[in-house]
Amino acid sequence: MKNQVAVIGAGPAGLMVAEVLSRGGAAVTVYDAMPSAGRKFLMAGRGGLNLTHSEPLPEFLRRYGAAEARLAPSISAFMPTALRDWSEALGQPTFVGSSGRVFPQAFKASPLLRAWLRRLDESGVQFAFRHRWIGWDSEDRLNFQTPNGPQVMASSASVLALGGASWPRLGSDGAWVDVLAAKRVHIAPLRPANSGFTVAWSEIFKDRFEGQALKGIALSFGAHSVRGEAMVTRGGIEGGGIYALSSVLREAVIADGKAALNVALRPDLGVDELTTKLAASRGKQSFSNFLRKAVHLSPVAIGLLLEVAIAEGIQLASLPSEKLAALINAVPVTLNGVAPIGRAISTAGGISFDEIDDAFMLKRMPGTFVAGEMLDWEAPTGGYLLQASFATGAAAGEGALRWLSR
Ligand SMILES: Cc1cc2nc3c(=O)[nH]c(=O)nc-3n(C[C@H](O)[C@H](O)[C@H](O)COP(=O)(O)OP(=O)(O)OC[C@H]3O[C@@H](n4cnc5c(N)ncnc54)[C@H](O)[C@@H]3O)c2cc1C
Repeated sequence: MKNQVAVIGAGPAGLMVAEVLSRGGAAVTVYDAMPSAGRKFLMAGRGGLNLTHSEPLPEFLRRYGAAEARLAPSISAFMPTALRDWSEALGQPTFVGSSGRVFPQAFKASPLLRAWLRRLDESGVQFAFRHRWIGWDSEDRLNFQTPNGPQVMASSASVLALGGASWPRLGSDGAWVDVLAAKRVHIAPLRPANSGFTVAWSEIFKDRFEGQALKGIALSFGAHSVRGEAMVTRGGIEGGGIYALSSVLREAVIADGKAALNVALRPDLGVDELTTKLAASRGKQSFSNFLRKAVHLSPVAIGLLLEVAIAEGIQLASLPSEKLAALINAVPVTLNGVAPIGRAISTAGGISFDEIDDAFMLKRMPGTFVAGEMLDWEAPTGGYLLQASFATGAAAGEGALRWLSR
């Protein structure tokens, strides 16, 4: 008789676990609290599904920072190229965008997810939706809340792939933390990653510029610097450039209550060139018009400059050109908090790697495996989040197969 394995969580990690297990001959049931699979995966595909990245593997692995050594074996076993082949085999060939990021040609997640679910279904994987896992009973069976009341399931092995705690309405809400902590599993606190920050904007600034993007800027904090863009939100600032710095900014905000972010509004122009342009006669035009024409600042960039000048008591219009030029390329923005985890792209923290063996099995709970974003790693956007979720899912699936055949 086939081994019965329960996979809990139908995100990219859990579905990859199910694929590997079913290929290896196990009878798999995937449980999920939501009414359908892969809700966050579908959301990830909304602005273009960035599956992985095309950079060389050593650079790729460095993006995982402190978790690099722990993730390297699984990602080396299921590399970005393997993920691209896998996508192509599901009828979704990929392409490399100008930034080196990899996307399916359809750009969205839905055709890929549909084809994947169909293949899993054909291979005999069972799905049980609206099944919220809430822990174990006294005989170590899995407890679920379902629309038909509580249910208890026994299995030869189980794999948890419950995700982090961002965007809880898509299913992953981090409620598993208390269940595993009660089993004395060490979990690094879940924190927002690739997240925005709060800024005490003036009412005038947020009313006027909420939702507007600062494009072509450079952002720096300490020794860290990135090119990108950022968007003004009602309560602060978010967007690609901010996310790229978010892990160092978050740690600074947690430690000091604030962080001073520097925004270069025209990083492509050196201070000398800016100074020359700003030294031109202003004539009768307003100061804002002058900035717009002389150095091509957008309305929101001018707004930010004015916002910061007012807060710092600087008379912008009377600044000498070289001081104004220097300010334009180093606008100090004080971040005074991290935006809530519910709005973050991903989650830092999670199950400590010291709690699992090389097969992704919990050392304290033989037969229970874990995968995906619920482990203690973080990475920037760029395809690194999905790649690690898929790769750890494949590794946990292989690990469970080895354990079942021991
Ligand atoms: C807006 C947005 C855009 C993104 N874009 C990208 C991108 O382009 N590229 C990239 O690499 N990454 C992206 N990500 C991140 C990526 O989607 C996640 O890293 C990835 O989905 C994590 O996979 P996972 O399987 O570990 O967890 P999840 O996808 O979160 O899946 C976990 C599953 O577990 C279920 N679950 C949770 N708790 C329970 C429970 N108690 N009982 C039963 N089921 C439960 C949930 O319902 C969910 O289906 C994006 C994220 C967001 C929010």
